[in-house]
Amino acid sequence: MTGKTKLMETRQSDNPLQEFQDILKEAVLVLGYPDSVYQFLKTPMRFLEVSISIQMDNGETRMFQGYRAQHNDATGPTKGGIRFHPQVTPDEVKALAGWMSLKCGITDLPYGGAKGGIVCDTRLMSSSELERLSRGYVRAVSQIVGPTKDIPAPDMYTNSQIMAWMLDEYDHIREFDSPGFITGKPLTLGGSKGRETATSKGVLYTLQMVCELEGIPIEGLRVIIQGFGNVGSHLAMYLHEWGAKVVGIADELGGIYDPNGLDIPYLLENRDSFGVVSNLFNDSLSNSDILEKECDVLIPAAISGVVHKGNAERVQCKILIEAANGPTTKEAIKILDEKEIVLVPDILANSGGVIVSYFEWCQNNQGYYWTEELVDERLKEKMAESFLNVHHTSQKFSVNMKVAAYIEGIRKIAEASRLRGWVR
Ligand code: GLU
Repeated sequence: MTGKTKLMETRQSDNPLQEFQDILKEAVLVLGYPDSVYQFLKTPMRFLEVSISIQMDNGETRMFQGYRAQHNDATGPTKGGIRFHPQVTPDEVKALAGWMSLKCGITDLPYGGAKGGIVCDTRLMSSSELERLSRGYVRAVSQIVGPTKDIPAPDMYTNSQIMAWMLDEYDHIREFDSPGFITGKPLTLGGSKGRETATSKGVLYTLQMVCELEGIPIEGLRVIIQGFGNVGSHLAMYLHEWGAKVVGIADELGGIYDPNGLDIPYLLENRDSFGVVSNLFNDSLSNSDILEKECDVLIPAAISGVVHKGNAERVQCKILIEAANGPTTKEAIKILDEKEIVLVPDILANSGGVIVSYFEWCQNNQGYYWTEELVDERLKEKMAESFLNVHHTSQKFSVNMKVAAYIEGIRKIAEASRLRGWVR
């Protein structure tokens, strides 16, 4: 299987940092802020590049490149995941850190944004090599991270086990127990109930909000999800439980489409250990063809840049919810606007993950742990509030939801930076 399955690319757009900067500039202009605000926020305030030397199982020593970008810490410590991927670049990490700042601004969390990455292929590494790499990364960045400085979390190809190794390494360096150093931990190490499913639940609540607004019932809604990883697969299950018709799914190898609705419990039960389901069917499509199939709601939940100027015209949905980070390019958004497709932006739709990470950090700081019902209730509340704020802003300034989300996201960071005297 390893030979057959290719690792999911992290992006198809050429420069996510450019995408971040272009929309940021537009939002700053709409808000009437001086250009100095844009100049200050267009790149992270801190960026660290590290080389990590690891002994491989065969005795060889190998070097790995790692990054940590901290976009802005005017409103609190910075927060954001760490991705392990062979194609991670400094610009991608910088853009993702900026998006984290915006997510925290929109959802009113007391954080700024950060992101980390290590250039590596997890599928070619053993568990003990991954452990040494995770610990090596923490040693390399330990001076700039911490529970009141910068709090990492999982992202693409990292998980709760990697968070556990990172926490253990950090505790050794600091010589005290600090569960609030990292989120997305296993429950027994201070993780939060509901963290694993938080992003998909957040997307679900966003869909519920947008459906209410458009007066469309969820029951019978035809949905296509591109991506069948943690977010896509949980989301498919929830949608199925809520009575929606999931008509299309795509994984790393291909896509499957059935206008009568797919059998989601069957797919969840029969996927292989890499989460691949498209190979269960003989006539599978490509994972980009699936984006052009007929549906009411399209949810790209895998990588960035998949809806672009080359295919946006052929997208047939009424609502597009960006569950992945940056799945729709700027040019594509223009085309979707003309087609009157409602687009719910990533920095709003997929913020459930960081929201429950914040809840996890609060529980660690309090030493008091919440029930899953409480986590879910507060997540829903935050998603609804954030959605309504972005929607209101989009109407007030007559801009699309993407620009509105940037406006909501930067307002607080710009204000806090100004109060601190960092920008005028
Ligand atoms: N990596 C996730 C994101 O992109 C979660 C970040 C966090 O929990 O801090 O939103």
